Amino acid sequence: MESSAILIVDDSHDDLDTYRRLLAAAPGIAHMETAESGQEALDLFTKQEFDCVLLDYNLPGTNGVEILRRILDEKPHCPVVMLTGGGSEEVAVAAMKIGAADYLSKDTLSRELLTRVINRAIEKKTLERKLLTQHEEQEVFLRVLVHDVRVPLRHASIISQMLKDDLGPDLSNEVSAHLDKLGATIGSMKGLIDTLNNYALAEGEVSFGLTSLDRVVEKSVTTSANMIQERGAIVNVSPLPPVYGHAPQLQQVFQNLIANGIKFSEAAAPQVDITVHDRNDAHTIIEVRDNGIGIPEGKLADIFEPFTRLWSRDRYAGSGLGLTICRKVIRRHKGAIWCQSVEGKGTRFFVKLMSMDAPEDRDAPASQTG
Ligand code: ADP
Repeated sequence: MESSAILIVDDSHDDLDTYRRLLAAAPGIAHMETAESGQEALDLFTKQEFDCVLLDYNLPGTNGVEILRRILDEKPHCPVVMLTGGGSEEVAVAAMKIGAADYLSKDTLSRELLTRVINRAIEKKTLERKLLTQHEEQEVFLRVLVHDVRVPLRHASIISQMLKDDLGPDLSNEVSAHLDKLGATIGSMKGLIDTLNNYALAEGEVSFGLTSLDRVVEKSVTTSANMIQERGAIVNVSPLPPVYGHAPQLQQVFQNLIANGIKFSEAAAPQVDITVHDRNDAHTIIEVRDNGIGIPEGKLADIFEPFTRLWSRDRYAGSGLGLTICRKVIRRHKGAIWCQSVEGKGTRFFVKLMSMDAPEDRDAPASQTG
């Protein structure tokens, strides 16, 4: 176990003495500083590095939760253990919500408990930091990949078209077929890169607010116009209410659902109907129903997992990421997505979002960045 530097914030001299005594001979505690007020703690905190902060809730002139907030503004992953009086569960809950690593009742202190809680808090925050770093690295990797692969793909596409144009009438049927295949392969690689780009976008920082679903779905339909025309599909959209959301991401969701409804269909005229399934003050559930091939009962949950595809690529093209992106986006909207299906008859996707009334809804959730 590594040695840790601890900052203890408490205005009671007796309590500070107790902590000192308990931690003096504790294994793994190398250094201890104390502060008797929130301001003193913040001053110390900006000057020195601490591995863990023990923070009393009852501080003169302010409360521990406010100091906790300011400490975490400064260093978001600092392990802070809130020290509470007996029976103050509400304080503990508030502290944990803001980002305290743990809390400890002053009534049950012992050397063993104190060191265990400190070490656990340090481990927890170290792990959180590692996970975040990994996540950020993955995001950057994905963005670089998407960007760097797009450029050579565009060149490959132009060159294959130039070859076809240059060879013109001299082109044998065999070479022409090869070039068509090359074009199709480049096309599907472009599609995959677009999907990966959407996946990366679903992770990015966006702001949420009043969003017109009418407009979102209209754009999704417009973007799918080629596919709709090629398959002779019918897409019916009922009037939809506004919701709390981020329009470009929701557009991506409905685009994926419409495309799947058309793609996974053997009907002469694939049909997708988009309607309000349920709505109250709190939530709005939108249904996207198709008359396609359906999904076996046992696979309904699997299809939202990355790279899950129920059919071979030769039969139905795709990356298996579309619904994963939908789920990611909808989760970020604090909503839900699920589906019901009857094989051979069709599938119903349900998208649950937070309701919001236009235009002057006073009780709407505050705008949030995700
Ligand atoms: P992709 O469409 O790229 O294959 P998705 O993540 O969008 O990937 O969907 C995962 C799988 O779920 C699809 O490959 C398909 O087998 C099944 N699926 C999705 N939507 C439908 C649908 N509307 N009807 C039937 N099967 C579907």
